[in-house]
Amino acid sequence: MTKRPNNGVDKTLRRLSLKQETPKSMFIILLILYAMGTFLTITYSRTPGELVVSGIPIDNSAMAGVFAMLSNICIICLALLYRRIGYFTGLILLIGNVPTMYVNIIVRQNYRSIPGFFNSMLVLIAITVIFLSNRKILNYQESLRVQAVTDSLTGLPNRFACSELMTDMLRRGGKFALVSIDLNNFKSINDTMGHDTGDMVLKEVASRFKELANNATTETTEFVARSTGDEYMLIISDYDSEEDIEETIGAYKAALEKKITIDDCDYFMTACFGYCICPEDSTVLENLFTFSDAALHEVKKTGTGSRILRYTEDVLNSERSLEIERKIRAALADDKIFYHLQPQYNMNHKLRGFEALARMKDDDGSFISPVDFIPVAEKTGLVDRIDMKVFELAVEFVAKVIAETGKDITVSVNVSVRHLMKNNFIEDIRRVLDEHNVSADHIEIEITESIMIDSAEKALERIEQLKAMGMKVAIDDFGTGYSSLSYLNSFPSDLLKIDKSFIDKMSLNDSSRQYVAMIISIGHTLDLKVISEGVESLEQVNVLKDIGCDYVQGFVWGKPIPPEEAGKLVAESA
Ligand code: C2E
Ligand code: MG
Ligand code: MG
Repeated sequence: MTKRPNNGVDKTLRRLSLKQETPKSMFIILLILYAMGTFLTITYSRTPGELVVSGIPIDNSAMAGVFAMLSNICIICLALLYRRIGYFTGLILLIGNVPTMYVNIIVRQNYRSIPGFFNSMLVLIAITVIFLSNRKILNYQESLRVQAVTDSLTGLPNRFACSELMTDMLRRGGKFALVSIDLNNFKSINDTMGHDTGDMVLKEVASRFKELANNATTETTEFVARSTGDEYMLIISDYDSEEDIEETIGAYKAALEKKITIDDCDYFMTACFGYCICPEDSTVLENLFTFSDAALHEVKKTGTGSRILRYTEDVLNSERSLEIERKIRAALADDKIFYHLQPQYNMNHKLRGFEALARMKDDDGSFISPVDFIPVAEKTGLVDRIDMKVFELAVEFVAKVIAETGKDITVSVNVSVRHLMKNNFIEDIRRVLDEHNVSADHIEIEITESIMIDSAEKALERIEQLKAMGMKVAIDDFGTGYSSLSYLNSFPSDLLKIDKSFIDKMSLNDSSRQYVAMIISIGHTLDLKVISEGVESLEQVNVLKDIGCDYVQGFVWGKPIPPEEAGKLVAESA
C-alpha cells in the first residue's frame, strides 16, 4: 500500500477550532449584491435624467447614491460576518473602485462622484474600525474555541474534537476505525508516585502518540485525542484492510510500551485497545463511541496485559449485562423493585387471581423489561432478592385484599430455580406468610419446567415441602423445555401454564390447535388445571374454551396492572 500524506493532528485541530459559523453561501450572496449595486451605481451616475416612481421624479444621481449605499452595506456586512477574510475582501473591493473614481473625478471632471469618493472613504474607516476593535474579541473567541477542542493537560485534541471530526467524516461517507485506548495500572502510578508524575506520564504518552500521528510512520492516517483520565482515542483512516488497522494500533502499542523515564525512575506502560469500524459496525456517532468503549471494557475485563479487540455484538451484550446488573443492585439498595399484577380468569371471565410480575425502572423513568433483567439477576445471584421482594409485596397485597373484600383469590409468584434451591428458602417463605398472617393456599409458586431436568431430586423435595404448607405449584412456560412426561407425572404440581408461543400458533393451522388440546388433555389426565398464557383475542378464548382449557391469562382480558388497580378489580368482581 502506498503511503498517503498525513493530515497532522495540529492541522486538523486548527481546522476544527476555526470552523466558520456563517455559511459560505452568504459570502457569495453579499458579493453578488455588491456587484449588482456597483453596476447600478455606475449606470445611474453616467446617465443624466430622472426616474419617476409613483408619480414622484427621482434624479438618477440620487438613485446612484442609493445603490452605492447598498454596495457599502454589503462591504460592512462582509467585514462584520467574515472577520479577516471579510475585511480584506472589502478592502480590495473599495480599492477596486479607485480607478473608476479617478477617471470620473480627475479625467472626466465629473464632480458628482465626489460624495461617492467620501462615502467609500467612510466605509473604509468603518470596516477598519470594525476589524481592529473586533480583533481582540475574535482572538479571545478563537482561544475559547481552541480550548473547547483541546485537552489542557496534554495539548492533544479532546473527545469533543474527536466527535466533531467524526461527524464531518460521517457526513462525507468516510471509512474509518475508532479506537479507545486505556492505560493499564495508571491509578497505581498516581497513588504511589503522586499526581505530578501521573501527569508527566500522560503527557509523555500523548507526545509519543502525537509524534506517530504527525510523522507518517504508519501506513494509515490517524487523528489522536485524549478523552478523559488515562484514556485516549484514535481515528484511523486511509486503510485497506482490518490488518492495516491492527498494524497501526500495534505501532501505537509499541510506542507506548517503550520505557518512560521521569525523575530517574523508569515506568513501563501497557494499555488495552478496543475498536470498531465505520461503516461496517455503525454509521451513528453515538454507537461508534459506545461500541469502541464496549470493546475496550471487554478486553480490560480479561486481565492486565496489552490487548487489542474489535467490537462484536457479544461484547455489547456483556456490556449491557453489566449495566443492567448495576441498575438491579441500585434498585435493590434503594428499594425500587416493585411489581404489577396480571389478572387470571376462568373461561367464564370470572376472576381467579393474579400473577405477580417484577418491575424495575430505568434512570429516565422507562421500564426495563423483566425479560432483560431477570436473566442477568439469575446469572449474578441477585434473583433471590428480587423474587423475595415480589413475594413479600404479593403476600402483603393478599392480606390487604382479603381484609378489605373477604374474597378468595390466588396470587402466583415466579420463583427462579436458583432461589428455590437456597437452603433457607422455605423458612423465608414461612416467615413472610406468618408476618402477614396469610394462609399458604392463597399463594401459588410458578417454576419453569427446566427444574424437572436440572435438579429433579432436590427440587422435588422442596416442592413437597411447599405443598405440605398448603401452597399451590404451577409449571410455567410449559412446552418450551424438554421435560419428559414421567418427570411431570412425579411432580406434585397443581397448574400447567401453556406458553404464549403455542397460543400464538393456534390460529395458524389445525395441528397447532391440536397440540394445545393435547397439552390440556395431558394436564387433565395428571389431575392438573391448565391455564393459557398470552391470550390476546376473543377468538383464541373461544377455541381454548372448546378444547377444555380451565383458565386464561392475557392482554385480551387484562394487562399487568399496579396493585391499587388490582385491588379495585377484586372488589368489583362477582
Ligand atoms: P412469565 O412468568 O411467563 O410471565 C408472563 C409474561 O407474559 C409477562 O411478561 C406478561 O406481561 C406477558 N404477557 C401476559 N399476557 C400477555 C399477552 O397477552 N401478550 C403479550 N405480548 N404478553 C403477555 P413480563 O412481565 O415481561 O415477564 C416476563 C418474564 O419475566 C416472566 O414470564 C417471568 O419468567 C420473568 N419474571 C417476571 N417477574 C419475575 C419475578 O418476580 N421473579 C422471577 N424469577 N421471574 C420473573
Ligand atoms: Mg410466570
Ligand atoms: Mg410464562
